Amino acid sequence: ESSGKMPPPVGEYSGSNIAQSHDVLQHLKSADFDNEFSLVYQPKVCAKTGRIVGLESLLRWNSPIAGVIPPDVFIPIAEEGSFINDIGEWVLNETARFQMRWRSFTLSKGFRLAFNVSPKQLRDGCFVEKVKALISSGDLIPEYTCIEITESAAIDDFEDCCKQLTKLSDLGIEVAIDDFGTGHTAINYLLKLPAHVVKLDRSLIQGVDSEEKSYNVVKNVVAMAQSIGMKVVAEGIEIAQHALCLKNMGCEELQGYHYSKPLTEDQLLKALAQQPYKV
Ligand code: C2E
Ligand code: MG
Ligand code: MG
Ligand code: MG
Repeated sequence: ESSGKMPPPVGEYSGSNIAQSHDVLQHLKSADFDNEFSLVYQPKVCAKTGRIVGLESLLRWNSPIAGVIPPDVFIPIAEEGSFINDIGEWVLNETARFQMRWRSFTLSKGFRLAFNVSPKQLRDGCFVEKVKALISSGDLIPEYTCIEITESAAIDDFEDCCKQLTKLSDLGIEVAIDDFGTGHTAINYLLKLPAHVVKLDRSLIQGVDSEEKSYNVVKNVVAMAQSIGMKVVAEGIEIAQHALCLKNMGCEELQGYHYSKPLTEDQLLKALAQQPYKV
């Protein structure tokens, strides 16, 4: 029993070969979500005040067979099949339950609870229906909810994706483009996706305090996004210098280990009591 709960050695589940991907998918399919999945919550901090203005839920999976497998490994594998829909539905429901539990607090502070959604989940329109149902039953408050569009592959039906995001946006949900500046997340997303927020990927943030090129590029990306009315959030803020640079560029919100790692609900209670953070 105890050995079954041991995390696998580092690198075991890199998901980098087909056999491993197959194993991971099999474990996922037989997983008991309620017992094996959990969410942790990472604060987003206002660059001006240092106060927590939002939280992002992040999925954790502890498989009794395979140990702890990070979302960077199992989400792309789930995205290849339609299994991402089942996972996404669990995340949606659990996020709504969290919002309910924390309602009195979050409403008084007016901050947004974000969760990650793969564009694959948007494909059949079922996701939007599920969101609508939660809103109708009073289990999700759209004005206090944000959806972060994360992806590991190019969006295959861009037009439909835009349509679904517009529906979510019309419901009052904030839409954020995650990981901007990497991989498939390119400038045409800013122009075409109906999104309110752009989240700068941490790979963009890394050099801002030490390399002039990096600083100038990020500064102009912030200005570009703001010039079309978008709010900018920087993720991967690891040190005070990152925070200072992004604050000076006019970036509205900051997120990263410098402020807080993703937290369990107990840890969150403490973090909320200790703010504002220094910015
Ligand atoms: P993401 O949405 O871009 O989330 C940011 C990731 O960076 C998280 O990793 C977070 O723990 C980590 N991080 C935060 N601050 C720092 C920092 O200062 N430095 C460094 N080095 N890392 C930082 P995590 O939780 O392992 O998630 C990885 C990715 O998996 C997420 O990237 C997202 O794309 C995906 N993911 C996580 N949960 C979900 C989910 O519920 N649904 C979907 N579709 N994808 C999810
Ligand atoms: Mg995210
Ligand atoms: Mg991101
Ligand atoms: Mg990411």
